[in-house]
Order: sequence, then C-alpha cells, then structure tokens
Amino acid sequence: VSIEVDDEGLISGVAAGDAATPGSIVLRGLTMPGLANAHSHAFQRALRGRTQGALGGSFWTWREQMYGLAATLDEDRIEALARATFGEMALAGVTLAGEFDYLHHSDAILRAAAGAGIRLTLIDACYLQDGIGRFRDGSAQAWAKRVGSIDPGPLGGRARIGAAIHSVRAVDPSDAAVVAAFANERGLPLHAHVSEQPAENEECLRRFGATPLALLGRAGALSERFTAVHATHLGDGDAELLRDSGGFTCVCPTTERDLADGIGAPTGRFTLGSDSHAVIDLFEEARAVELDLRLATRIRGTHGAPALARAVTADGYASLGWPEGGAIAPGRLADLVCVRLDGVRLAGTRAADALDAVLFAGAAGDVDTVVVGGREIVRDGRHVSLDVAAELASAITAVSA
Ligand SMILES: [Zn+2]
Repeated sequence: VSIEVDDEGLISGVAAGDAATPGSIVLRGLTMPGLANAHSHAFQRALRGRTQGALGGSFWTWREQMYGLAATLDEDRIEALARATFGEMALAGVTLAGEFDYLHHSDAILRAAAGAGIRLTLIDACYLQDGIGRFRDGSAQAWAKRVGSIDPGPLGGRARIGAAIHSVRAVDPSDAAVVAAFANERGLPLHAHVSEQPAENEECLRRFGATPLALLGRAGALSERFTAVHATHLGDGDAELLRDSGGFTCVCPTTERDLADGIGAPTGRFTLGSDSHAVIDLFEEARAVELDLRLATRIRGTHGAPALARAVTADGYASLGWPEGGAIAPGRLADLVCVRLDGVRLAGTRAADALDAVLFAGAAGDVDTVVVGGREIVRDGRHVSLDVAAELASAITAVSA
C-alpha cells in the first residue's frame, strides 16, 4: 500500500499495489494511524520505580510523593523532563499527547513537545484549592486570562490548547462554570479528573448533593468535547449522563492499577492515557481495558481489537481536539506508526491476525517507524534526533538529588 503525503503533512492518496518510489519511507509491519496518549503528566515520569515499592500505601500516600517532586521543579527541569518523556512516547508510537498541565509551565511543555517531534494538546488545568500553592491561579478569571494568552508558537501547527477543570476537589462549581464557558466559547477540548477515588464521590455528595459528574454537568462542562479522566467510580446515572452528552472517558489502566484505584468500565466512547507514566506503552493500556474487565466479570470479549485500536487512535485524537487525525485516508493527518511483526513477540503472526496480535501481545518495543505530518521522528526503533535514554537519565537525576 502506498500513502501519499502533501506539503501540508496531510494524506493525499492511498493506493494498493504500487511499488515504493525513490525517497519513500518504507514501512514494514502493521501500519496504523499514530497513537494518541490522551492523558499525561509528563513530570511524573521521574517517579517511575520510586513509589511502587511503598507497600500498604494508597492513592493518597502516592500523591504526597508526587507533590514532593512537583515542589522541586522549575522551568528548565520541567522542559528537560518533559522532552525526554515525550521522546519515550514517540518511541512507543505516540504521535499526539494530551498534557494535562497543572504546574502551568506551558512554554516549557510546548518547547519539550517540539523537541521530541510529537503533536501536543496543552490541556491547561484550573486548580484553585488543594495541591501546591505556587502553581495555583488566584481565581478562575485569572486562569482564563492566563490561558487565553498562551501562544502555541514554538510548535506552530503541531500544538493546540485545551482546558481542564482539575477535579471537583480543586475547583468549586461556580469556578468550574467559568472554565466550561471559556472552553465552550472557543470550541476547545475540556477535560477533568472524575471519580478516581470513592472518597471524592463521598465528599462531593456531602458538600453539593451530587456526584462529581453531575456537578460538572450543572456547570455546563459536558458535551462531545468533554473527557472524564478515570471515571472509575461513577455514581448512579453517571454512565448514562456521560454517554448521552457524547463525551469521552479516558481510562489510564496502568496508573489506575499502580495506585490501586479500581477497574474502570467505559461504556461510551473512550480513550487511553499513560497518565503517571508508570509505564509508557499504549498497547498495554489498550488491552488492559479489556483484560482487567475479564478478571472482574469473568466474561471474555467486551472490547475487541478494532474497538481498542479506535480508542487509541481516532477517538484519542478527537478527544484532544484533532478530529482530522486517527485514520489513514485522504485529507487526514499523515501521522502513522509502523509496528514490526518480525521481532520475538510477534514473529509468525498471520496478516489477517495482525491487529489482534499487536493489540493483545505487542509492546512499545515493537514500534519500528513513527511519522508525524509525513516526517519520520522514529526510524528503526530509534528517535531521529534525541538520545532518549540519556535524556531521561540526566533529567531524572537532576530532580532526584
Ligand atoms: Zn491525571
């Protein structure tokens, strides 16, 4: 199959049976639309391997360690850490990341994504209570003023802005309404952490007499541009409310299992995120949605490979405000990932089974080539411009002293 790309980085033609022309990028393996990592906190990559050994802890004890790290970060450290983390994502086939940013170093994050060659939706999170004081905006109005002035300049056409209500813990309903109105007026993606923990539901019900999702609905947040991140412990009626609004659920299984959050069960459109980056492997995130449900329900087969593939490509792109991505067809973004089928994990795969094999047994390490806007950013399993492992080592060492 040949895929033609125009000067704008869009696919201009797809044809079967053509021989490669000189100068073509040759993709050997299963070629899919590039992967969308719909929920990321890049700086948390520095916690990998440092928190998992704390036996007997919970989400809340992990959160103390995470805030401890966040307190040590400045602009330069965040940029170095985020560039290396986005580089690791590129090696795993990610062509678009949604950075849910509550530390508010937007310029550093945008430069980092540019350095790694991926697309980015900078999802700037309003965070007014709880958390770390120095990252807070004084009010929802101050948040809107700051976000309205962010220039995605360093990434040019490869960056877009989104909005987030960090959670109902961190933003009161009247402030959530300001953020929702800001996103709605501009047609931006709007994300929020929703019902990751039962304690959040209990407190929300006690204070406001509603579930977190219903409260966000009252604030005008729900629409087909809305993403409920986690949504692990939805309350009565919440699943229907989210589905009827046309919104997405973003499931982050490797983080949710690391933090002992529980098992999510998305019912409508859903996307995937590596969130805390306990691992960065979108194939592992995708199959975990199905395989965790098998353990919980003892039923095999709720979400097949095509549904998981759509979640990690087209729906991920749409939830991050890039509806023109996520498909190999004329007029769509020329963002592609090619997964080799001749390595030890996937050798012997029949062509007809390739999607099942990659989704249920493939790994980030099988990614061979990654293309963003028609340009290679990963070739033969290596990043074309970054020594990702060396960058990760130095960026993480710098914040661990
Ligand atoms: Zn998160």
